Amino acid sequence: MDNFTFYNPVKLIFGKGQLEALPNEVAAYGKKVLLVYGGGSIKRNGVYEEVVNQLSKINAEVVELSGVEPNPRVSTVRKGIEICKNEDVEFVLAVGGGSTIDATKAIVTGAKTDIDIWDIVTKKEQVNDALPFGTVLTIAATGSEMNAGSVITNWETHEKHGWGTPSTFPKFSILDPSNTFSVPRDQTVYGIVDIMSHVLEHYFHQAGNTLVQDRFCESILRTVIETAPKLLDDLENYEYRETMMLSGTLALNGMLNMGYRGDWATHNLEHAVSAVHDIPHGGGLAIIFPNWMKHVLDDTNTDRFKQLAVRVFNVEAEGLSDRDVALEGINKLREFWNDIGAPATLADYDIDQNTVEEMADKTVIARPEFGNFKKLSRQDSVEIFKASL
Ligand code: NAP
Ligand code: FE
Repeated sequence: MDNFTFYNPVKLIFGKGQLEALPNEVAAYGKKVLLVYGGGSIKRNGVYEEVVNQLSKINAEVVELSGVEPNPRVSTVRKGIEICKNEDVEFVLAVGGGSTIDATKAIVTGAKTDIDIWDIVTKKEQVNDALPFGTVLTIAATGSEMNAGSVITNWETHEKHGWGTPSTFPKFSILDPSNTFSVPRDQTVYGIVDIMSHVLEHYFHQAGNTLVQDRFCESILRTVIETAPKLLDDLENYEYRETMMLSGTLALNGMLNMGYRGDWATHNLEHAVSAVHDIPHGGGLAIIFPNWMKHVLDDTNTDRFKQLAVRVFNVEAEGLSDRDVALEGINKLREFWNDIGAPATLADYDIDQNTVEEMADKTVIARPEFGNFKKLSRQDSVEIFKASL
């Protein structure tokens, strides 16, 4: 592994009833609060009412931005920035999933500058300053609650980019697994796929000696694989929701990839699909990841695939060539995602060959090559998308 500095300042407040910690946490930063949320799930499941009730305990003055889209748009972020500036907001509270949290990271950054937020997202400009913000997570998926990353979509230019600064770590995140009981089956599946994909992105790297990190990754993958079918049969089971929520946070809070950088080509490919077709992130990953694996597998990297196959998917290696073991692991991943009802082809979202070139263009907007385990070009994107049709 490489030398590294691990820094994660997020205060993680986890468990049943932990929303009670909210007033004290917010009070440390101010009383003028912008509450950011999505399309209304928090109104239907009672979380909104509970949050407002907790905030009333410190006489917080609350303004709201609702309607953050899944795949949050820069147009909505700009509305939030306006509110912060016009209302002298002191603290922003994101209540929802990765989309609401990612939008909030952009809002708190834009609130501190006159530079357009899209120039910051696309890294033309750098701003390392932000209003303080916290999160109340309502879906296990992205890990955004405990990292500084954010993914924002520009629906005018059909681009979706990841960005982040040291100032975009939440001050705190409150995770009560009960608040995820109402996540519907399909969104639960997308979350499971995203969690597994984050671990898999880490797992495919070229660094030496990652014995500890590999085992961490494998334990989370095995735990998610074991828990997912039980959870999907029993969506209001606290322990299964608890396991999935903690897995999601640990998958992308920087702990698993201490001392090395994972691949992240599949996320880049998925962002290109979402930028053109606005599909759920986890759905896109389920389609692309196994096809990325088959595309990059070669004689120089079979060992990593073999290790995954044997240690995570219990593939019996005896009597098989290394390549066949590796391929069997990829098949098992596809079968697992099929079994839990994740999409397997772009056709599942009515995406056909007509937009393959356009999507491939999007994968190389930021740089001509991408991926760290194996460098990929635009032509690789075309081939992976074609294999995913
Ligand atoms: P999401 O887009 O935040 O939410 C997906 C859907 O689930 C929404 O329709 C939402 O409804 C609903 N939902 C959320 N909580 C619910 C609950 N408790 N009950 C019922 N419905 C609920 O999902 P996400 O997967 O967390 O976020 C996806 C976004 O994050 C994508 O843009 C992806 O690219 C990005 N991402 C970010 C990171 C990162 O590290 N920052 C990593 C991976 C992906 P409402 O809108 O009505 O609330
Ligand atoms: Fe993701």
